[in-house]
Amino acid sequence: MVTTHNLGYPRFGKRRELKFALESYWQGQIPAEDLQRQAAALRLRHWEHQRGLDYVPVGDFSLYDHVLDMSFTLGHVPERVRALGGDALDAYFRAARGRAAQGPHEHAACCAGVAAAEMTKWFDTNYHYLVPEFHAHTRFELDASRLLGHLDEARRAGVRAKPVLLGPVSYLALGKSKDGSNRLDLLPRLLPVYAQWLQALAAQGASWVQIDEPILATELDMDWQQAFNLAYHALRVPGIRLMLTTYFGPLLDNRYLAARLPVDGLHVDLSRGMDDVAALLNLLPERRVLSLGVIDGRNVWKSDLCALLDWLEPLAERLGDRLWLAPSCSLLHVPMDLDGEEGIDPEIRGWLAFARQKLAELQLLGQALDQGREAVREALQANQAALASRRASPRVHKAEVRAALDGLRPEMGRRRSPHAQRAARQAESLALPPFPTTTIGSFPQTSHIRRARAEFKAGHLDAGAYHAAMRAEIEACVREQEALGLDVLVHGEAERNDMVEYFAEQLEGYALSRQGWVQSYGSRCVKPPILYGDIRRARPMTVEWIRYAASLTPRPVKGMLTGPVTMLNWSFVRDDQPRSVSCRQLALAIREEVLDLQAAGVRVIQIDEAALREGLPLRRSQWAAYLAWAVESFRLAANGVRDDTQIHTHMCYSEFNDILGPIADMDADVITIETSRSDMELLEAFDRFDYPNQIGPGVYDIHSPNIPTREHMAQLLRKAAQRIPAERLWVNPDCGLKTRQWAEVRPALANMVAAAQSLRGRRV
Ligand code: GLN
Ligand code: ZN
Repeated sequence: MVTTHNLGYPRFGKRRELKFALESYWQGQIPAEDLQRQAAALRLRHWEHQRGLDYVPVGDFSLYDHVLDMSFTLGHVPERVRALGGDALDAYFRAARGRAAQGPHEHAACCAGVAAAEMTKWFDTNYHYLVPEFHAHTRFELDASRLLGHLDEARRAGVRAKPVLLGPVSYLALGKSKDGSNRLDLLPRLLPVYAQWLQALAAQGASWVQIDEPILATELDMDWQQAFNLAYHALRVPGIRLMLTTYFGPLLDNRYLAARLPVDGLHVDLSRGMDDVAALLNLLPERRVLSLGVIDGRNVWKSDLCALLDWLEPLAERLGDRLWLAPSCSLLHVPMDLDGEEGIDPEIRGWLAFARQKLAELQLLGQALDQGREAVREALQANQAALASRRASPRVHKAEVRAALDGLRPEMGRRRSPHAQRAARQAESLALPPFPTTTIGSFPQTSHIRRARAEFKAGHLDAGAYHAAMRAEIEACVREQEALGLDVLVHGEAERNDMVEYFAEQLEGYALSRQGWVQSYGSRCVKPPILYGDIRRARPMTVEWIRYAASLTPRPVKGMLTGPVTMLNWSFVRDDQPRSVSCRQLALAIREEVLDLQAAGVRVIQIDEAALREGLPLRRSQWAAYLAWAVESFRLAANGVRDDTQIHTHMCYSEFNDILGPIADMDADVITIETSRSDMELLEAFDRFDYPNQIGPGVYDIHSPNIPTREHMAQLLRKAAQRIPAERLWVNPDCGLKTRQWAEVRPALANMVAAAQSLRGRRV
């Protein structure tokens, strides 16, 4: 008999109930008991969804983040939070977001905040976790109440529970040392707490425990490999059977290490390659359970169940009871339920599987292996029919897109002249002062703008009225920028809900769901568009807006586009062709838009690649291959323009020291980046790497409501000028301004312009 299990489930509920409960609680509108009651109801409902499985994960649910939950379970709470006292939930949200919930009679001023823990991306997903902070003196102390409470709920609900923990080695690896001490030195202090915890679970009657060690899918040096051996020899607890769980990639060079640890089962992610299995079959000791993550937990497509069965049947024969089946990773990274999803065209919906549907696939596989395919014949036929329809659909395969891709020539990605020559032509055409000022594209998305869009989408506002409203916003935004004295203006992006969704809505080959939410961090969810077919631009997407903005002012107005790599990395993408191919198709569509903008007289065009870095593979050995096609795609999108058209790109992160070479290869005339928070420290990389083109290191931290002074920004610019020749510097904020208020933006930009002016005509 094959055993089926799940590794984790979405937390928010189909209508994002948890989001709304959390936000009401934080605002003091509902008491903690209500929040807890709603959370418990969601857990119960989600276990219900998983009931057909042999084991259901318990402990994967979180009110904010599972890594933060681990920190609290290990009694590892930042000192600044502990010092404030209060109850456990207050401390939890203080660590998560800097402040506890507001009491019913409080206002913001009296509930003093603390610095929230740093947040960073969970491996290569778009989920963000709260980074544990380690010091040489860090101590741990078990507080198992949360997980034990959930287990108790599960038991009462008759759920076959499998507790889920984040393993000790990954926990240390995901944290940061705050004092330069070695995190691994804490392992001997950490392990007894884990052991105690496993004993507590055993006392509660738990048997199988899922212990996640996703860093086994990354490159590990000797010390970390050693840590695994040390840890898992120390975690043998009578009565507990550990399912060591890895995901987000194959084990590759960690196969031997993982196979030889003294645990009872090993789960591997097979959605990104099945090669681990043959090796593991030889390496795994007898009686060790092998759990195969065959259903892709990172994407939204139906699995090919018959192909999987062809492959699994001989394995089931060989492994017998030792074979378990699961999704590749937690289903946290896909939307919860396709049922009732009205936004997606029925033909395309037929090709998809969200979390609930993926679990149904898993059960089908289990049944087919146990009882023979005949027992689930109809379901298999339906599955094969859906796949056949997808394979044959003319909406997926478009001959003209294929032909365009076949016709790519290397010179299409090359500018006609080197940057220095282009820069001279552009200077002539644009006539900008030294230290030219600009912004990253968006201006505040006021409630007024959002209301107009919502009414338009709901059909209460017709297209004409909506367009008129957006034009009025654009005009107001242009006038504001003129009054501020900015040099290169933008139209302000009022018409865009989101920088990816806006383009996905207009490109053929993309579908948009209405309820396909995925948690990004805390109560925040995103709704990634679904790239299902060959990408084609049916008509210009931005030209009308930019042309209108340009008609209002003699100053240059920058056209604003989202780049191919960012479109790709923030979408669910096709699994029937390499990502690089989808990316090139996107690049060609954006290239057409770039050329149309140029033809409309737009002299400056910005192509945002906010998410270029996010696509980096987990293993460094695979970076070069990704960067090669990512950079090539950008070049294809951007570099078809004349010398006198100025290409900008924007990246919103500060770590790029290790990819500066590929960024320079993109050959944008100007790159704007996030730097203000690091005090220009990150420009150190430019000492070692001579970046040839122009650069705008952000001087205004738009993530903060604070208004930077002229002097502060001038100081940052002087610092930048020590590393980058002043004639190649631009002056701009760190990122777009859409989340800010006009009342903050106006004085901040006025100071920014004044800072630039104060440096002009002087030696800096
Ligand atoms: N042009 C976009 C904006 O200004 C860029 C956003 C981003 O980098 N994330 O909002
Ligand atoms: Zn940005």
